[in-house]
Amino acid sequence: AAEDNELINLAKSKGAKGINIGGICCTANEILMRHGISIIGNFLNQEMAITTGAVEVMVVDVQCIMASLPEIAFCYHTKIITTSEKAKIPGAIHIQFTEEEALQKAKEIVKMAIENFEKRNKENVLIPQKISNLVAGFSYESIYYILGGRFRASYKPLNDNIINGRIRGIAGVVGCNNPKVSHDQIHIKLVSKLIENNVLVLQTGCSAIACAKAGFLDSVKGLDYAGKGLREVCEAVGIPPVIHMGSCVDNSRILLAATCVVKEGGLGDDISELPAAGAAPEWMSEKALSIGQYFVSSGVFVVFGVNWPTFGSKNLTKYLFEDIEKEVGGKWAYEPDPDKMADLILKHIDEKRKKLGIDKARERILYDMAMRRELE
Ligand code: SF4
Repeated sequence: AAEDNELINLAKSKGAKGINIGGICCTANEILMRHGISIIGNFLNQEMAITTGAVEVMVVDVQCIMASLPEIAFCYHTKIITTSEKAKIPGAIHIQFTEEEALQKAKEIVKMAIENFEKRNKENVLIPQKISNLVAGFSYESIYYILGGRFRASYKPLNDNIINGRIRGIAGVVGCNNPKVSHDQIHIKLVSKLIENNVLVLQTGCSAIACAKAGFLDSVKGLDYAGKGLREVCEAVGIPPVIHMGSCVDNSRILLAATCVVKEGGLGDDISELPAAGAAPEWMSEKALSIGQYFVSSGVFVVFGVNWPTFGSKNLTKYLFEDIEKEVGGKWAYEPDPDKMADLILKHIDEKRKKLGIDKARERILYDMAMRRELE
């Protein structure tokens, strides 16, 4: 709808330069990957976006929406529009979304925004000018292509570089912002330490947006934050040290990428044998727990920050932190400090490397003919 010429002309007739759409939290990740629409920010940026005074309408769907939005919007000219039966908010306008009428409803909303533009108080508009570049939208399929091109599509370069130690391991760092901790800081500190220690980081969700703001997802500048080995590999392949794999409902892509690493060979026969771990350092949504559990059940060591919900039961906590590993290969851990969380992940990765026998650099020996004959 924002590309509709009629609506663009209507916007211009009201004095606007055009129609600008921006995304917030995981909706932002989705529309960035599918339509190349810029990200404004993650979960904790939603109220701040309204306070720029430059938002004519804010459209929300089902989850991760602050109920305070209409109240904040009341101080500005912004209209809040809910679109799902399941998530109506007092003070918001409701326009029910249906797949059959998607374009028509979108045009209705864009028109409402254009008509609201005249109410924008231009003297009170304050848009922060800080911009970060990022490369986004990797999938387990596109990694095949990036590593091996069309004719040699393969995970082999990744596996080889994990085996030779240039890449120490892989970490999936995902999940929300949590208002109980400083916005984005746990994500940034954790990921910064991991990439500095040559761990390739795969990301989704608001965590990916936090690290994009910090510059880690920039395929040029992001390399300055990476350790020597990881930098060499990323430079050769042309990727940032932190890989954006989608929204928080796309975590299965990270698991599929891990499966591809196992299938490629040389790093064990199961995800639980990989030098890999997962983390949701600022989690707050309940679904983070179910996502974490399917990672644990798939054999991954998963660390959560901020708080942990089972401390009321010693038995359950012991089961989740220790005993479950014997059953499924993965287990949970809790650590709110990002520095210590990174240490836990690095320790786990090093233990897995040791078990695989790739913990020590081996001298490369070139065999001459006599040495080869001796082998026979
Ligand atoms: S990562 Fe968490 S806060 Fe962000 S959109 Fe997903 S569930 Fe919501």
